[in-house]
Amino acid sequence: MSVERTLSIIKPDGVEKNLIGEIYGRFEKAGLEIVAARMLHLSQEQAEGFYAVHKERPFYNDLVNYMRSGPVVVQVLEGESAVSKHRELLGATNPDDADPGTIRKDFAASIEENVVHGSDGTDTAAEEIAFFFGDDGVCPRTR
Ligand code: ATP
Ligand code: MG
Repeated sequence: MSVERTLSIIKPDGVEKNLIGEIYGRFEKAGLEIVAARMLHLSQEQAEGFYAVHKERPFYNDLVNYMRSGPVVVQVLEGESAVSKHRELLGATNPDDADPGTIRKDFAASIEENVVHGSDGTDTAAEEIAFFFGDDGVCPRTR
């Protein structure tokens, strides 16, 4: 076990459904600390760049349009095993496959409109954190 950071996004459908507080509450109750946060409306370039790994997938254009359909809330979470703990709270990509009590099971409408994003490893977490918060946009907890 070690302290990790991970990148988390409340996607446009999660913001539309007014779930920001509900989702932050789940993170905090699980012992994850929010160490950076911002709300923004992704540009075409940002949405395409963030999901570039999926460029060849048939759903890529729809995914980019969905991620640009409204504002998102982006945060960095810190804690023991933060990457896997966060993914457990989100649930499976497809809400039909997600465990009861997960965010996607409780709130997602479909495999595409699935409310939240979470980094899938420590390496991708570091890249995604730098993508949104640069070198100095994270605020370590001093108390
Ligand atoms: P995320 O990266 O957003 O946390 P994930 O890691 O669970 O999700 P990925 O395989 O990385 O899943 O897919 C990225 C996103 O693309 C999904 O969260 C979803 O919004 C969308 N997506 C994935 N698979 C499909 C699909 N078959 N059809 C439509 N959209 C999809
Ligand atoms: Mg992913």
